[in-house]
Amino acid sequence: MVHKYKCNNINIVLDVNSGSVHVVDDIVFDMLDYIKYGNNAIENKYSRYEISEALEEITKLKQQGMLFSEEPPREALPDIAAREPVIKALCLHVAHDCNLKCRYCFAREGTYGGVRSLMSLETGRAAVDFLIKNSGSRRNLEIDFFGGEPLLNFETVKGIVQYGREAEKRHGKHIRFTLTTNGLLLDDESERFLNEEMHNIVLSLDGRREVHDNMRVARGGQGSYDAALPKLRHLVESRGHENYYVRGTFTRANLDFCEDALHLADLGFRRISLEPVVDCTGADYAITPEDLDAISAEYERLALKMLERKSNGQGFTFFHYVIDLTGGPCVAKRLTGCGAGTEYLAVAPDGALYPCHQFVGIAGFEMGRLPEGNLDAGIRGRFEKCRPEAKAACRECFAKFYCCGGCAAAAYNASGDIMKPYEIGCELERKRVECAIMLEAAGEKEA
Ligand code: SF4
Ligand code: SF4
Ligand code: SF4
Repeated sequence: MVHKYKCNNINIVLDVNSGSVHVVDDIVFDMLDYIKYGNNAIENKYSRYEISEALEEITKLKQQGMLFSEEPPREALPDIAAREPVIKALCLHVAHDCNLKCRYCFAREGTYGGVRSLMSLETGRAAVDFLIKNSGSRRNLEIDFFGGEPLLNFETVKGIVQYGREAEKRHGKHIRFTLTTNGLLLDDESERFLNEEMHNIVLSLDGRREVHDNMRVARGGQGSYDAALPKLRHLVESRGHENYYVRGTFTRANLDFCEDALHLADLGFRRISLEPVVDCTGADYAITPEDLDAISAEYERLALKMLERKSNGQGFTFFHYVIDLTGGPCVAKRLTGCGAGTEYLAVAPDGALYPCHQFVGIAGFEMGRLPEGNLDAGIRGRFEKCRPEAKAACRECFAKFYCCGGCAAAAYNASGDIMKPYEIGCELERKRVECAIMLEAAGEKEA
């Protein structure tokens, strides 16, 4: 399968199966259509000599396995059903409570549709034991502290980390902790602790003040930008601008989200992520199919601005444009998906286990409960099968080696079926992959 497109006036050809990316001139770009569709217009546009030269180049790439390469035969793919079923990561919902009530909050102000509650240290310890017990021979494990707002339960976070550090020594494991926070409760003590213990932190900030304050509001309805920003900046500076992401959400209300990314960069943040809101309730801020063209154009504008800033020595990283073209197609990722419900589980404050944070509280998705931790084989089996390989839409998609088959939670929310990729999400993913490849290609052109 070959995918060709123009972006930033660069003709880009992706040979999907080999992962080869080619920056080609107009005639080779046009010839690919000629080969595929037999379009005679090419003979009026180029001379016979030019056509034969371009054909020669295409034939050479084909012979080298870098164009029109075949998909690997199924029997050549690793048999994931035969793998040892291990759990690599847990998302601990240490607080089903929040000090904000963001309008777009999928967690319904952190409660996930239940009651406000905090995880006990006992449940947190049981989660660490469960992870280690189910990790097989895997050494590197991950625990994410999530909420609601996890710093509402800071003492328990500290206790779980201490317990985890003792447990990793006893069992020869290494646990990487991360925490997601809105930043409002940060103080000297929590900042010091996060810098010492958290491998990564995710900081919630949507961008421009008016954009942020439109959605991320306190209980009294006032915006949280001015309260959060100084604390988030201080934390990032105290970490030496390493191992963090500032993560925002964009909605229909800010389809010009490139401005928000640039605003975050202007504030000094260098690691930025902006996610499209996922809302299937028909809210006025939900993204609709009519918005896709505007969002695609905005992703492209963002990529161009990033190139501009890079050339001015003010470059920044955009999470969705980080793509590895050097390793070739990621077959392992394609086979395993994001790992929800199999290698990655979420733990609610009461110890209930779910396929991931976005399924917490959804009826029919509770997989088990700590401390026993016996997992529902039926739910696990459904997620085991929920792989890009098994989804018809993914098999024909050029982005299949860069996308892990889409988000099962978004699919479920949109259609009630975890196997049916959320089409709006797919369109955006494909555009992000195109932009990410263009940035790599532009980098190569500059070199
Ligand atoms: S800070 Fe997070 S958990 Fe709290 S209301 Fe906002 S989106 Fe929801
Ligand atoms: S973008 Fe959608 S169709 Fe393409 S691989 Fe990802 S989930 Fe599958
Ligand atoms: S199902 Fe979606 S939200 Fe859950 S872990 Fe996978 S990608 Fe993330």
